[in-house]
Amino acid sequence: AKERPGTSFHFFSEEMDIRSFESIKLENDLYKAIERDEFLIHYQPQFNYKDGKITGVEALLRWDHPEQGLIPPDQFIPLAEETGLIVTIGEWILRKACTQMKDWHERGFALGTMSVNLSVHQFEQKNLFEIIQQILKETELAPSYLELELTENLIVKNKDLTMQTMKELKALGIKLAIDDFGTGYSSLGYLQNLPISKLKIDKSFIDQMLDDRSAITNTIITLGQNLNLEVIAEGVETKEQADNLLAQNCTLMQGYYFSTPKEADEIFNQYA
Ligand code: C2E
Ligand code: CA
Ligand code: CA
Ligand code: CA
Repeated sequence: AKERPGTSFHFFSEEMDIRSFESIKLENDLYKAIERDEFLIHYQPQFNYKDGKITGVEALLRWDHPEQGLIPPDQFIPLAEETGLIVTIGEWILRKACTQMKDWHERGFALGTMSVNLSVHQFEQKNLFEIIQQILKETELAPSYLELELTENLIVKNKDLTMQTMKELKALGIKLAIDDFGTGYSSLGYLQNLPISKLKIDKSFIDQMLDDRSAITNTIITLGQNLNLEVIAEGVETKEQADNLLAQNCTLMQGYYFSTPKEADEIFNQYA
């Protein structure tokens, strides 16, 4: 770095300066993103492979950054979690997704479920249940059409509060699914006591499925059947994977083989 006369601040190397500047800028941009209306949702369909019918969609967050264009969630959700902004963003996506679902229903598109991802921070709010209840009331969406995707780690992290909230949500009629199932820390004994209705097999197991003769997917599918839970496979990319899953009695699937996440209008035009 070149010395500038009269400058006495040399705490950071130039490289560190740039990195921290960029992350501070991104954080600032993230704060403004909601009021500037820069978030949007892409919806990825979920199918029953047996009859080929669409059963629901998963709402996936996108950030349309003014300079950088579409930023995928993996690049800003960790920052949103760190800063606590995920709470505001999470509420935004819930309201938006429920509004969308209600709109589709009113236009005669009888979609079964709208799945929304929830983060740890959202569950740490004491009034999460009230917020969700309020959103359903506002949007006039029946609770049974909303499905919330939680990870095992989220559930294990704040056990008592999370369990309490999950029970309230279930009592209201909302469906709960475990996302990325098989990658977290929850014990099988614990699983039995959770008020959930669905397991989502993580993509990593679908990726390996055809090599290791399906031992893990098979175990998860059987587990789900024994616990009376629905099982959906995520990240299905090929016909071989889909056929293999169906042969194992897993009929619900989501993945690029069927469809990438798409804008609401595209979903409506293609599947309504
Ligand atoms: P996730 O919940 O496990 O979502 C599935 C991710 O896999 C999505 O990535 C989806 O686009 C991608 N995907 C779906 N099918 C395939 C496939 O066949 N092949 C491959 N390679 N990928 C596939 P996306 O949209 O980039 O989201 C990444 C993660 O960001 C999500 O993983 C979720 O953990 C998080 N996320 C997204 N939206 C939200 C949100 O609204 N709230 C929270 N808390 N997290 C979100
Ligand atoms: Ca998910
Ligand atoms: Ca997942
Ligand atoms: Ca994931």
